[in-house]
Amino acid sequence: MSAQEYDIIIIGGGPAGMTAGLYASRSELKTLLVEKMIMGGQMMTATLVENWPGYPGGIDGPELMMRFQTHCVEFGLETRTGEVEKIEDLGKQKRLIIDGKEYLCKAVIIATGANPRKLGIEGEEALVGRGVSYCATCDGAFFRNVPIAVIGAGDTAAEEAVFLTRFASKVYMVHRRDKMRTTKILQNRVFESEKIEMVWDSVVSGLDSDNTGLTGITVKNVKSGEQRQLNAVGMFVAVGVTPISGFLKDLVELDKSGYIKASENTRTSVPGIFVAGDCRTSVLKQVSTAVGDGAVAATQAEKYLEELKHS
Ligand code: NAP
Repeated sequence: MSAQEYDIIIIGGGPAGMTAGLYASRSELKTLLVEKMIMGGQMMTATLVENWPGYPGGIDGPELMMRFQTHCVEFGLETRTGEVEKIEDLGKQKRLIIDGKEYLCKAVIIATGANPRKLGIEGEEALVGRGVSYCATCDGAFFRNVPIAVIGAGDTAAEEAVFLTRFASKVYMVHRRDKMRTTKILQNRVFESEKIEMVWDSVVSGLDSDNTGLTGITVKNVKSGEQRQLNAVGMFVAVGVTPISGFLKDLVELDKSGYIKASENTRTSVPGIFVAGDCRTSVLKQVSTAVGDGAVAATQAEKYLEELKHS
């Protein structure tokens, strides 16, 4: 069977990918967006998005993403579920293998986003779904009237800790330093909550479990070396994210943390391959910056297609 051909193929259906899709399809370029799981990306686990302009009082992450999807499909964007197994740079054409099928296009926009980072401690992986979670919105309701812990003190950790106070009897917030990197408004919400106890200067040193799952967490104070036992039966890990770029390491240039190198023009080290959103080297990771990136990537890709015609 011959390969399907597109002007642009976008990989990833989060805010960056969908915005790129909206711009590209509105420019009447034949565009396909491929998403591995469900459209919406990390925002599908966001309880309340308070800093997306135009929604005073905030909007649920999944609702916002549904609106994004409706909007980009309105302009004729084609979307499909699938896993991109390979991307080959053939110069003026790019060849992609998606779920074993061949696709050709002139430009690729990578908007694969990021996955939650793991703590990397013994027992963590085995306890996923039995006490260990990376998503409060998904799993919070399983922990009613029991003590739990949130690890980390960034914006995600703070939002998750506050959200989890709806269910849990107590929330320990374990942080490796004595200062939070969270924005002030979220920090204040954490400090104002009577259910949240900060466990400063501490890292998780051990997980206790039985056949029911997690039964407790041991934390170690990094200054005093003292160990403390927390009676938490749930552990929500929110220690940042890792870019989804491993499958591209032999194609485009990455930085030492795995982010795809590109300046604000979103052009990667390979002509015709663009990057948008959380998987790009950038100073801020927000819906608003992902949206900005998506718009830039699509317009840069359009410009590149024009350049190709004259090359
Ligand atoms: P983040 O800002 O990178 O924070 C990660 C937190 O985990 C930090 O407190 C960090 O400690 C800690 N940490 C990292 N590695 C650790 C380890 N191995 N062991 C223990 N603790 C560790 O990540 P994030 O909170 O997921 O946020 C990611 C990006 O999304 C940020 O740019 C954030 O602003 C944005 N975001 C925004 C919103 C919002 O605007 N409403 C919501 C969520 C996320 P240190 O502080 O010591 O480094």
